[in-house]
Amino acid sequence: GIVRSFSRNDDGAIALSTGEQAPSVAPAALRQAIMDGQLRLVYQPQVDGRDQHIVGFEVLLRWHDPDQGDIPPSTFIPMAESMGLMPVLGNWIIDRVCRQISGWRAQGYQVPVVAINVSVLQLDQALLTHVAQVLSTYQLEGACLEFEITESRMMLNFDECVHIISKLRQQGIGISLDDFGTGYSSLDKLAMLPLDRLKLDKSFVTALTDASHGYHMIEAIVRLAHLLRLTVVAEGVETRRQQHLLNELGCEILQGYLFGAGVEADKAIKYLKGRPD
Ligand code: C2E
Ligand code: CA
Ligand code: CA
Ligand code: CA
Repeated sequence: GIVRSFSRNDDGAIALSTGEQAPSVAPAALRQAIMDGQLRLVYQPQVDGRDQHIVGFEVLLRWHDPDQGDIPPSTFIPMAESMGLMPVLGNWIIDRVCRQISGWRAQGYQVPVVAINVSVLQLDQALLTHVAQVLSTYQLEGACLEFEITESRMMLNFDECVHIISKLRQQGIGISLDDFGTGYSSLDKLAMLPLDRLKLDKSFVTALTDASHGYHMIEAIVRLAHLLRLTVVAEGVETRRQQHLLNELGCEILQGYLFGAGVEADKAIKYLKGRPD
């Protein structure tokens, strides 16, 4: 039958929900997809909220299955994590992105910082080694990358996370706290994290209207972020009105369909400055 969704059994195993029972197919399907090259990366622009010039990209993973169509990352990333594939998949993403940056540079383009979503499960010594090796292979400086790490997950393994992200920052990599506002961080812990940016979750942007509760929530978060000397990035910006209000609220960087959805590397060239003759 057609696979509708993946779910987890009581014992933690991944099952496909097809209406019928087909419990062991999904992990194999994901492994196969990785081997068959069905996974692709897209680049979504991040802009300066005032003049709309491109200041970065966020890389997002896509899985197109020839039979099932597009499978969303919110479905397959947790699956990859519970299958123990995340270190391998995550390292592959970092490698691909660095190769792309180096390729663009070789063509004469100026490349803005590229933000990669990194699973908390990847934050270990092996990641540090991999990153150092990849940067050296492609002769890139750490500052061309940023890692986005989800707030709620970071708080679960706090001390280890602090250690690893400090080391990443020593390599010049920026750290962005993703989905901020959805994870109930304690404020003292937030202040202890070595961060560069705070990413306001899309749900705040969606709820944003003038003088509403949503407006004042963002106002408070931006003030807190600035006290901690963090740059604020808003995701999910879809309207001019949201752009205007976010500018007014002092949110520096905006991302959302208003400025463009994720596109493949060859299409992302339109966002880059400079070009070969
Ligand atoms: P996220 O990091 O919060 O990524 C933002 C999501 O919002 C993306 O969904 C993006 O396509 C979507 N989005 C961007 N602009 C707009 C907008 O204006 N309106 C709306 N409604 N949505 C917008 P996507 O690509 O489906 O990714 C979902 C989540 O999957 C991501 O959430 C991230 O947590 C995870 N993910 C995606 N790619 C990767 C990856 O390479 N590695 C890891 N570890 N996680 C990833
Ligand atoms: Ca993200
Ligand atoms: Ca996010
Ligand atoms: Ca989000």
